[in-house]
Amino acid sequence: MATHTITTQWGEIPENADDLALVQGGAFRTFRCECGIPLPTRVAAELHATETNQCTACLGSADDEVVPGFVRRCAACAATGRRNVQLVWELAHSEAEQVITLGLVRGLVDGFTGPFRLSEVADATRMALGLPVGRLPVGPRVRDLLRELEAAGELVMLSAPDELLRGPSVVLYKDPQWQRVPEPS
Ligand SMILES: [Zn+2]
Ligand SMILES: [Zn+2]
Repeated sequence: MATHTITTQWGEIPENADDLALVQGGAFRTFRCECGIPLPTRVAAELHATETNQCTACLGSADDEVVPGFVRRCAACAATGRRNVQLVWELAHSEAEQVITLGLVRGLVDGFTGPFRLSEVADATRMALGLPVGRLPVGPRVRDLLRELEAAGELVMLSAPDELLRGPSVVLYKDPQWQRVPEPS
């Protein structure tokens, strides 16, 4: 039986590369599978990953190389590289979207008088919903909602990014900290 280890190589990344295409779009990369099937595009590589029960985000590698040399664990498949785990996790993501609402998170944030971290709000959310750790992707959902409240002007982020991957345009935060914006009196 052929093995289907899909590998990704970086191509030349121009100085003025489109950051979104670079980080999320799978641009500036080429793909190969050990079985020799041609994989001319990211879409072809994802299709081949599906056919061989591998995660379509990390193509089975369990790693997510955001920019050359910076690797993090694949969040889509809980770093297993497997398509069936990815599908279960996708369902869990949509369940998290339904049960963890903006109103819930806003109410929890109201309980903090000073600065608070993403992990603290995630813990408070698990407590409020009685969720065991690892049951739902609470952290990513809570982060999205906190960023929504930030965009609406209700919160302000206090943290500087932990990693500048391409200058200030592609940055990563590990456990960012926010504070509520006081109501104008
Ligand atoms: Zn293959
Ligand atoms: Zn994956």
